[in-house]
Amino acid sequence: MRKIVLTTTAVVSVIGLIVVWPQAVVRMLRALFPNVFWDIRTHERVIAITFDDGPDPAFTPKVLEILRKYKILATFFLVGERVRRFPELLQQIQADGHDSGNHTDSWRRTIQQSNEEFARNLICAEQSIGLRSAPKLFRPAGGMIRAGQIQVLRKHQYSVVLGSAYAFDPYRPPRKYIEWAIARALKPGAIIVLHDSGGDRSKTVEALPAIIENALKAGFRFVKLSEFLKSDSCPTH
Ligand SMILES: [Zn+2]
Repeated sequence: MRKIVLTTTAVVSVIGLIVVWPQAVVRMLRALFPNVFWDIRTHERVIAITFDDGPDPAFTPKVLEILRKYKILATFFLVGERVRRFPELLQQIQADGHDSGNHTDSWRRTIQQSNEEFARNLICAEQSIGLRSAPKLFRPAGGMIRAGQIQVLRKHQYSVVLGSAYAFDPYRPPRKYIEWAIARALKPGAIIVLHDSGGDRSKTVEALPAIIENALKAGFRFVKLSEFLKSDSCPTH
């Protein structure tokens, strides 16, 4: 139960930990942590869809095929060591025009890493993924991060992206549940969090067409996160 609660929506507590909390707290947190994004600040009917933990030879190509079919651009939070193992999948993600973000260098939880370790892993993943210019996007592995690690990210010009629509798909709930959980969390600016790696993600892949169709039917448009999350550290010319 604790695990589930910790991965829903994130909050920065007084002790400097981002843990998970009901959505009501998010507004207050925004003011405190302007570089941490739970959703997109907009009244337009735009949403973003994101995929964590890949790339994965079994599931990423299927996800890409579905996204291509619906002409939707997504954001993939990629794991450095997997990118080095499957460089052709990174190429495919980027060739299709999707955003790639940093999800550290392995599946190991971010919060379990010392700040030094974390900084090293961040850079390894950054180089493997080929993230060069701002806005650089980061999502902590395991959904939690310490305040000290946020400082490291700030130094390296990252925006921290969590999310607002979760289906707990790593726990492999039924396809119908995944569809329902995402549909009920749709609102302007929602950031959908799904997983295309880290285990059997066939339920996620099965649910994806209905997730997209539900959103389109409700008048939402999908956008890449980079269109919205501009970094404040690098001026663009
Ligand atoms: Zn992850």
